[in-house]
Amino acid sequence: MVFACSDSRVCPSHVLDFQPGEAFMVRNIANMVPPYDKTKYSGVGAAIEYAVLHLKVENIVVIGHSCCGGIKGLMSIPDDGATSSSLSFEEQCHNCEKEAVNVSLGNLLTYPFVREAVVKKTLVLKGAHYDFVKGSFELWDLDFKIFPCLTV
Ligand SMILES: [Zn+2]
Repeated sequence: MVFACSDSRVCPSHVLDFQPGEAFMVRNIANMVPPYDKTKYSGVGAAIEYAVLHLKVENIVVIGHSCCGGIKGLMSIPDDGATSSSLSFEEQCHNCEKEAVNVSLGNLLTYPFVREAVVKKTLVLKGAHYDFVKGSFELWDLDFKIFPCLTV
């Protein structure tokens, strides 16, 4: 299963050369996975439930990307000035593109059937970042150090 941005420049079938039937996809602005909620976000929740419980997908990959307009919009929201950074706006957006993926991986774990499959090791969660400016694709595993309750 793949989560990717709606941005047409990062179509997973083109980037990862998927053939028809190879990947179950959800695309939205900034490739975000909302936290589990039985009544809200039901479109994404239904897709995850179908993929995990019925298609029995073995991997869920959340793919962020360079120059993401959704992340740029998020980073453009005025803050209270309590935090400051020496990084340029572009560098901050680049970091946020990756951290938003990690937030989505954490949100995936709030779905009981995802969590159960991860604990049983029948499902692996991965984050990725596709940089179409540099032509690079970075892939990483869910960081279990952030979720110590899963290492039992
Ligand atoms: Zn995007």
